[in-house]
Amino acid sequence: MATRVYQCLKEIGDKIMANKDFLTDLDREIGDADHGVNMARGFAAVVEKVPEDEGDIGAALKKTGMTLLSTVGGASGPLYGTAYMEAAKVFAGKTAVSPEDFKAALEAAIAGIQKRGKAVKGEKTMLDALMPAYDAFSEKVDAGADLNEALDAACAAAAEGVEYTKTIAATKGRASYLGQRSVGHQDPGATSATLTLETIRDFLK
Ligand code: ADP
Ligand code: MG
Ligand code: MG
Repeated sequence: MATRVYQCLKEIGDKIMANKDFLTDLDREIGDADHGVNMARGFAAVVEKVPEDEGDIGAALKKTGMTLLSTVGGASGPLYGTAYMEAAKVFAGKTAVSPEDFKAALEAAIAGIQKRGKAVKGEKTMLDALMPAYDAFSEKVDAGADLNEALDAACAAAAEGVEYTKTIAATKGRASYLGQRSVGHQDPGATSATLTLETIRDFLK
């Protein structure tokens, strides 16, 4: 029987596969038309490499991060890989998800992405979905909300973040080569990050 964490990773993979062409099309407009292909390749490997019976959430996330690092390539591979590896540290030895752990994991994932990619908010990257998602999530958790409510707020903020990426020019990643011409297009990585959070939210309901 597949464990909960394996099932969740499988669902993230299914969501990425279902949106593979959409993500690639977004990247065709402001990048090199491979984001969906990259992520789909990565998650196909993740569901192969993570043992179905892995109950330790940290161990499963660590394997996920290592697999993404070695299979995705591009900018997003190392960034998502680092994000999952950092989140893995928070969940080491754990078999359930608390709001506090999820908050700490999201914070660690963002810090890892920033350490690796040197981007800040407002540069038209995955951080423009993840950072507002973290802010909304922690505000809810600090006010005593449960995981579902906090994840709903995080997903709403991430989706708004994706909309925001349409209004700004990229200053990091390939899209930055387009400068002002990147305005008007939504960021592929912010989009895949939002899809990931939405899948986790739906899974944990
Ligand atoms: P590549 O650009 O190498 O082809 P992908 O197309 O898979 O890689 O991923 C592109 C996405 O990576 C962008 O949409 C953006 O969200 C994200 N990205 C690129 N550079 C950075 C960075 N320095 N920090 C955070 N995210 C970044
Ligand atoms: Mg690309
Ligand atoms: Mg590429």
